[in-house]
Amino acid sequence: MTQPTPAKVDMEKIISLCRRRGFIFPSSEIYGGLASFWDYGPLGVELKRNIKQAWWQNMVQEHDDMFGIDSSILMHPRVWDASGHLQEFSDPLAECKSCHKRWRVDDLEGNRCPECGGELTKPQMFNLMFKTFVGPVEDAASTVYLRPETAQGMFVNFHNVLNTTRKKLPFGIAQIGKAFRNEITTGNFIFRCREFEQMEIEYFIKPGTDEEWFDYWLKESHHWYLKWGIKPENLRLRQHTKGELAHYAINCYDIDYRFPMGWAELEGVANRGNFDLSQHARYSGKSLAYFDEDTKESITPCVIEPSAGVDRAFLAFLCDAYSEEPDKEAIRVVLHLHPRLAPIKVAILPLSKRESLISIAREIYTELRHSWMVSYDDAQSIGRRYRRQDEIGTPYCVTVDFESLKDKQATIRDRDTMEQIRVPIKELKTILTDRLS
Ligand code: ATP
Repeated sequence: MTQPTPAKVDMEKIISLCRRRGFIFPSSEIYGGLASFWDYGPLGVELKRNIKQAWWQNMVQEHDDMFGIDSSILMHPRVWDASGHLQEFSDPLAECKSCHKRWRVDDLEGNRCPECGGELTKPQMFNLMFKTFVGPVEDAASTVYLRPETAQGMFVNFHNVLNTTRKKLPFGIAQIGKAFRNEITTGNFIFRCREFEQMEIEYFIKPGTDEEWFDYWLKESHHWYLKWGIKPENLRLRQHTKGELAHYAINCYDIDYRFPMGWAELEGVANRGNFDLSQHARYSGKSLAYFDEDTKESITPCVIEPSAGVDRAFLAFLCDAYSEEPDKEAIRVVLHLHPRLAPIKVAILPLSKRESLISIAREIYTELRHSWMVSYDDAQSIGRRYRRQDEIGTPYCVTVDFESLKDKQATIRDRDTMEQIRVPIKELKTILTDRLS
């Protein structure tokens, strides 16, 4: 649930920037779009890839007890029986008797339709999972569900990972992938989509060590957003009340971000006890126990789950980085993204379209492209070109001018300070490597 606070960034401005500069487009736009489905454009795809890469690096690569998997989106339907999603994963919904629009009861303030003021039906539970069929026959036996979370793919692979990595507890499995929910209340751009991506960890531990590991993962997860540039004042930790806890959870904290529409969940960190492994063992008839060499006992591990949304992180990084700054003639829009997250790292800008300058500029461009996403732009005035790069968060611009022909030097301009330094062209790569790491 979101809580209104004074908006610091206008969502309309973020949406307009995303549309205008090719971060995000409405899905199937030429057909009028499809509600709460979005397509990531050329810049969006880079930012999203960098966010996932940063997460994978910190959460998997830099932890020697973490292993990645990529499980299928459609799973055996019994998975959702065992996980409780078939019974529990639903929202209470009321329908307006006059305009027939459906509303999530949790989001209603009164008992009339917010759109037309009509009378609402009694709430009914509505399952959020999308259904489809495997094979040619559309019947109950062939019904499967698009996964509403990536987590279950990690639980059902617990023994596969344990046996193939030969790891002892504690260890974790991580996964980044698509999830689907037939959300009732949509809106707020990519905050609540019907198709989205998650970055999840299931960290398996010995019973009795859950509090210490819960604290560890809550800190790690919180720290991750700070490390990649989110301002501390725009993050908060919120513990779930007893009534809010999901059916599997013993404890849960939300990491909330102050979005333009108010504080809302960016990530959840939950202590799931041994609910999931016990349920899958029961429903599948296969043991998912772990033999503890120290105590010579068979145990069912407990689990700590940090569960983050890629799209919500994307939106938070954009909102946090967005700034409008007074410049000489106008307002300068800048995305102060962490350089490692920025979609384009360097823009090469020859000062004029004279062939001699273009050829040096293109040479630099060709060389640097082996290292990063680099763009080349020789259209319009230099001021305008700087501004176009600032608006998409490009940390450095390299300008080639007539002096460069003589002194073999180029100018590096810093997005945040707008400072310019002149450096030998042959040292560009080393200097930029240093600044971008
Ligand atoms: P909410 O209360 O906002 O519906 P949730 O508590 O149902 O979220 P979880 O089931 O904990 O969310 O999912 C873990 C993470 O996945 C969330 O913190 C969020 O970042 C992301 N997520 C969940 N639902 C969506 C969605 N519809 N669109 C985009 N991201 C989502």
